[in-house]
Amino acid sequence: ALALAKKEERINGQIKKRGHLVVALFERLSNNRSTVTLSVPDQSPMERFSKRHLNVTHLCEQSWCEIKVVYGFLKPHMKRREMRRTAVTTGASIHLARELEANPDAVTVVVHTKEDREALKLIKLIQMVPALESGQLVREFPVLGVLDGVFFLGVVDELYCSESGELVLSELKTRSHNSLPHPAQAKGHSLQVGVYKLLFDSMVQGSMKRDQLLHYLKLRPHQAFGSELQSYAQKLGLLAVTFGELVDHLLVVLNFSNLQPIDKLRLEYRHQSSGGLIGTREVEFEETQLRAELMGYLAFWRGEREPHGVDIEDIEEAWKCRMCPYEESCEWRRSRLQEVMVEGSKKAK
Ligand code: SF4
Repeated sequence: ALALAKKEERINGQIKKRGHLVVALFERLSNNRSTVTLSVPDQSPMERFSKRHLNVTHLCEQSWCEIKVVYGFLKPHMKRREMRRTAVTTGASIHLARELEANPDAVTVVVHTKEDREALKLIKLIQMVPALESGQLVREFPVLGVLDGVFFLGVVDELYCSESGELVLSELKTRSHNSLPHPAQAKGHSLQVGVYKLLFDSMVQGSMKRDQLLHYLKLRPHQAFGSELQSYAQKLGLLAVTFGELVDHLLVVLNFSNLQPIDKLRLEYRHQSSGGLIGTREVEFEETQLRAELMGYLAFWRGEREPHGVDIEDIEEAWKCRMCPYEESCEWRRSRLQEVMVEGSKKAK
C-alpha cells in the first residue's frame, strides 16, 4: 500500500510539473503573439538591443518610424522576411552590377574571424583613397566614425570628381514605381547622404581614432589575420598581419591623403525593372540643422525619450502603416486608433 501511495504521489508530481511547463509555454506563445514592451525603463535601446554602434541605415529606418525599428529588433523573423522582399524590390542586383563594373577584378577572400571581416572593409578603404585622389570614381566606399558620442558605420554608393573639380557623393536609389519618391521617403534619403558627409569629412580631416574603432567594434588589435587574408594583403603590398597594424596603416593613409570634404550631395533614382533613370536630386547640406536632427534621433537610442510611431491622423504619414509588416500587431497604432475613436465620439456628443 505504501509503495502504491508513493507511486501515485510521484505520478501526480510529474503531471503537475508538466502542467506548469504547458502553462509557461502557452504564456510565452501568447506573449509572442500580442504584447511586446516598446520601451523598458532604465534601459536604453542601445543597451536593450546590445548595440555598440549604429549603421547609418538605422537612422534612415528611424526617420520612417521608430516603433518599426523597435519591432524589427523584437520580431527579427518578420524583419528578415521584409528585408528579403525589399532586396528584390529595391534592385539589389543593380547595386551589385554597378559595384562589379567599378571593380571588375573583385576577388573572394575566406574570412575566419570578425577581425578578418572588418579588415576586408579597411583594406577596401585603403585601396580607394588613392584611387579617389587620382580622380577615379569609387563605389561602395566605407565610412565610419563617432557622431555625437555614437559610433557609426556606413557605405557610400559612389564618390567622384565632377568636371568642375567638386567632390560629389551620389547615392543610388531604385524604385518599383517609375516616379520620384514621396517626401516622407526622400527625408530618409537626404538624412543618409548628410550623415555620410559628416563621417567622410571627419575621416579626411583626421578625426578617426584607433582606440575608438577597436572599442566600438569590439575588435582585438593583436588578432592575426587568417592565412587567406594574409596572402591577399601581401599581394596588395600591405605589410600588416594583425588587425591593429592594419588600423595604423589606414590612419596613416587617411592623415596623409589630400582628400577634401565633400562638396555636393546627390540622389539618383532609377526604375527597378527597367534600370532607366527616373531623376536626380541635389541635397542641401545644412550642418547645424542636420546635427540638431541627429541629436533628436540619438536621444531615442540613448533612452532619453520614448520611441515615436507614425502620426495616423496625418494624411502625409498614415499610409506608411499600410505597407508595414507589423501593422496588425502594432500597439502604437492600436492605441492611437482608440484615442482617435474616443475623440471622435466625444465630438459627436
Ligand atoms: Fe510604425 Fe505604423 Fe508600422 Fe506601427 S504600423 S510600426 S506605427 S509604420
